[in-house]
Amino acid sequence: MIQDNKIFDLINKERKRQTVGIELIASENFVSENVLNACGSVLTNKYAEGYPEKRYYGGCEVVDEIETLAIERAKKLFGAEYANVQPHSGSQANASVFHAFLNPGDKLLGFDLSHGGHLTHGSSVNFSGKIYKSSFYGVERESGLLNYENILKIAKKEKPNMIIAGASAYSRDINFEKFREIADEVGAFLLADISHPSGLIAKKFLSDPMPHCHVVTTTTHKTLRGARGGLIMIGKDYENPFGLKFKNGNLKMMSKLVDLAVFPGNQGGPLEHVIAAKAIGFGEALDDSFYNYIERVKNNASTMCNEFISRGYNVVSNGTDNHLMLIDLRNKNITGKDAESALVKADITANKNMVPYDDKSPFITSGIRFGTPAITTRGLVESDIKNVVEMIDKVILNHDNESVLNEVKKDVNQMMSDRPLFNP
Ligand SMILES: *Cc1c(COP(=O)(O)O)cnc(C)c1O
Repeated sequence: MIQDNKIFDLINKERKRQTVGIELIASENFVSENVLNACGSVLTNKYAEGYPEKRYYGGCEVVDEIETLAIERAKKLFGAEYANVQPHSGSQANASVFHAFLNPGDKLLGFDLSHGGHLTHGSSVNFSGKIYKSSFYGVERESGLLNYENILKIAKKEKPNMIIAGASAYSRDINFEKFREIADEVGAFLLADISHPSGLIAKKFLSDPMPHCHVVTTTTHKTLRGARGGLIMIGKDYENPFGLKFKNGNLKMMSKLVDLAVFPGNQGGPLEHVIAAKAIGFGEALDDSFYNYIERVKNNASTMCNEFISRGYNVVSNGTDNHLMLIDLRNKNITGKDAESALVKADITANKNMVPYDDKSPFITSGIRFGTPAITTRGLVESDIKNVVEMIDKVILNHDNESVLNEVKKDVNQMMSDRPLFNP
């Protein structure tokens, strides 16, 4: 075997970076050793284009069993009637849903990226904004909250073929029932993209989209704490699931359209090593211990949010219902970009983020986003969270002072020194 010390040295370097720092990127998490082992298994050698029992390659008996288990566990976890576990990522999952139910040139209505939405919800720099005509809803300037009457007004004006409910930087619960009323009123298809809060939704800490939305997509690696990838699901078979446009829709037809859109529509061979790892992650999430984990994620987030507010930070919408929060730094006289880079110097990782009605560019931004899924996996509890906020505050107030940043870095490394990287 050819030794590749260069790459393995770098992998070890990255493992060390993850171990010694405080990880506050809201979309990241730490998977179990089992998930990691499945990702690095011999399943990566196997071609399996098609679906269980309907493959275009021989020798798929074993991966058929694995993929079938992954599908069954995903359905059980979310109470879905149908699941497709093949999307390589959340973006691929969304691309496939659009491909299944829209024609090029059709109209999308999504959550504005600069208000907390995602690139794939119609952004002009993304395929979703190039292939489809997009319009957006956002949050109210004063409250930082979605206003469903406004969304209905926009939907009536834009007459979208599809509405997307879901976001990457919105800290509040989403009312999918209201979204469905809006979609029905304008005859639109309704997609829920629960990529961020799916772990909280699976454990019923937030509203459930499954009874209200025609299709639900998610990533599997954020709050769900599984392998990096995507998932598409369909809930109950409605009498008239497509409002005006698809009068004859039913679960069988819809699931066939999604299957065809993923393969051969958007992807080639599925990543069976990742599908095995997804199955393991779903199994872990079905366990009661995952309920306790999610409860701690949510409690840690609300503690963090309250600590920031008590230190004079401006939290968008003034609170959080989920695992994340968005902070508007304009009253602290620092940009998101500068805050992010000062924090990295102290081994605290987070990402700069646009805030609603931001006057700065996406490269600078006025905000920063924090989330608790990863640090909760590392075992941080509410008393630690208070220390974490104190450290962040110190960094932000002294972002030009290298010696203070070094001091905080030592405290960070000390705090993380006896925290295992893997979840139990
Ligand atoms: C993260 C995210 C995605 C995309 O996931 P990738 O796996 O990075 O492609 C899609 N939608 C939302 C709302 C997300 O937060």
